[in-house]
Amino acid sequence: MAEETTPPGPPPPAAPPQAPAAVAAAAAAAAEGPGPQEVKIKVRKPKQRSCDEKDAKGKLCAGHLKRWYDYPDEVENKIGKDAEIYRCEFCKTLYKPDPKQMPHSYTLRY
Ligand SMILES: [Zn+2]
Repeated sequence: MAEETTPPGPPPPAAPPQAPAAVAAAAAAAAEGPGPQEVKIKVRKPKQRSCDEKDAKGKLCAGHLKRWYDYPDEVENKIGKDAEIYRCEFCKTLYKPDPKQMPHSYTLRY
């Protein structure tokens, strides 16, 4: 059993040293219930630069994915603080970077 199983989502890069239960409970309370603006978060495919969401008619969105820095608390609760996130300029779908595409510092040499 040496094979590595990939979890559905990458773990947060750095867990906060302390997570007050009150904050977690508040976040959970905020998360449940029908939210009119449920944030959709997808994972970018390698080299993906445009949105591949389709609307109700099946039309490709193809919006440009832009790095998003000043996301609100509700998003921060889902992806963590200072996370790398991209957002479609049209449908506002969020994209996390591909975990396999995380920046590594090794260089390719022949
Ligand atoms: Zn889009």
